Amino acid sequence: MYDVIISGAGPIGLFLSCELRAYGIRTVVLERREAIDPTLKAGAVSGRGADILTRRGVVDLLGDLPSIADLMGGRKPGAGSLQSKTAPGGGVPRGHFAGLWILRGGSSTSSAFVLAPQQRIEEALETRARSTGAEIRRGHAVEALDQDDSGVTVTVAGPDGPYELRARWLVGCDGGRSVVRKAAGFDFPGLDGIMTAYQAMADFDDPEFAPMGWHRMPRGLMVHGPHPQRILVAEFDGPPADRNAPITQAELETAVRRVSETSVTITAVHSVTRFTDNTRQASTYRRGRVLLAGDAAHVHPPFGGQGLHLGLGDAINLGWKLASTVRGWAPPGLLDTYSTERHPVAERVLHNTRAQVALLRPGPRVDALRDIFTMLAETPEANRLLTDLMGELDIRYGAAGDHPLAGRYCPDLTLKTATGETRVADLSRRAGALLLDLSDRADVREAVRPWADRISVVTGVASSSSEDAEVGELPDALLVRPDGHVAWAGADVAELGEAVREWFGESADPAR
Ligand SMILES: Cc1cc2nc3c(=O)[nH]c(=O)nc-3n(C[C@H](O)[C@H](O)[C@H](O)COP(=O)(O)OP(=O)(O)OC[C@H]3O[C@@H](n4cnc5c(N)ncnc54)[C@H](O)[C@@H]3O)c2cc1C
Repeated sequence: MYDVIISGAGPIGLFLSCELRAYGIRTVVLERREAIDPTLKAGAVSGRGADILTRRGVVDLLGDLPSIADLMGGRKPGAGSLQSKTAPGGGVPRGHFAGLWILRGGSSTSSAFVLAPQQRIEEALETRARSTGAEIRRGHAVEALDQDDSGVTVTVAGPDGPYELRARWLVGCDGGRSVVRKAAGFDFPGLDGIMTAYQAMADFDDPEFAPMGWHRMPRGLMVHGPHPQRILVAEFDGPPADRNAPITQAELETAVRRVSETSVTITAVHSVTRFTDNTRQASTYRRGRVLLAGDAAHVHPPFGGQGLHLGLGDAINLGWKLASTVRGWAPPGLLDTYSTERHPVAERVLHNTRAQVALLRPGPRVDALRDIFTMLAETPEANRLLTDLMGELDIRYGAAGDHPLAGRYCPDLTLKTATGETRVADLSRRAGALLLDLSDRADVREAVRPWADRISVVTGVASSSSEDAEVGELPDALLVRPDGHVAWAGADVAELGEAVREWFGESADPAR
């Protein structure tokens, strides 16, 4: 029997399988597609998702990547007719809000973008997952499930016919229309869409039919570039009549002509997807032995490029908690903190994408709203809040100690250790908890020694402290969870012991 079945080998299912394999969890990924979906989706991962891919070393598997400046070919990001602003302070912004390329603030604990197409990230994750021993079955679709006290039995449609597979846990990473979510009875409340949008890579008879950048047009939104073949158009007069109907070249061309107000002809379509702006979220991410992560747990329009980093944040939060539950050392309630920590994060994303849709609609009243919004967003404090919000940079989970770092994502400190210099990012390549002993405290090291199977101790002096003013003076020591968040920051050994038990259970050492 497997420990965990993952339904869906999209980016989130694959990343989760790598996390689970780091703990030796017997994992199988069932994917209905024979090959990676070639449809144009994310072109970049930003915010905390970029950090996660960097710290786990996935970025190193992606090969040479372009910079934003390369992609823009010297143009200003978002240079468009109606709404462009340079980022406050000039230079290349870290992202946009409703097509306003103004996000430059934010916590300094974040990497920049990982400018890779989603398919390249999926390829890298699949290679890693297989090399770490995850079994990936392509062409195998989950159709039904039945759970009891000891496990979940899944009915699978495989290439040789239907079969049953059993595991102790099932995680639905099978996207926005998740079969697992529906079959396990999760609810999925939220708002229906008001928009029909198409994103395509296509050839046009006149390649210059539309200027590059984001443009709010009288009949909708048009985004052209950065690649000359990439076009996105959105109209705000209702969701698609039939979301399952195949998309024809004529349908795409009609929408592009309407929004661009040109008579452009599409001569070839290389990739096209149709989407709406429905925003829905499962009320809980766990029902018994079934869990949800990524788009299976929450759907929202792609504005601001948040889907991937949101899902990666789910997977890195869930991975170690599920692994510790399977291993048997998870303290009571640990697995439920997955849902309580991650649900509010997605709720904020749904909320901000609703606001973005409101700001992207055409019309003079929205023009006025955008002007006022931009004026406010360009003030340093608002810009920081907005950048943090869009990148998940300000997330603070419950943690012990009143140090400003408690609960936050651990900054990428550089540590001088007895054996040389290392960084938190280097120490995070393999999933696992860290105790960073920054003041050479033998009592701190001794306090976690019985948990040596779960917590690695590194003693060193932080040679560069965080540039983030909110972090302040570094504490004597930091207990960092496997997902990079600080479980405890301080000097008090008794407090450290409580935090260790709260997150990592009782020690394997019977003497303690
Ligand atoms: C047009 C567009 C642009 C986007 N741009 C960005 C962006 O710039 N930045 C960003 O961060 N995000 C972006 N996103 C969002 C991002 O693509 C998604 O958030 C991301 O793909 C979610 O990953 P996932 O693994 O949860 O789900 P998916 O990628 O949907 O993967 C789910 C997998 O499950 C499989 N599956 C489904 N049902 C079954 C079943 N019954 N059995 C087995 N397998 C099953 C599917 O075949 C698929 O491989 C964009 C999305 C779209 C549509």
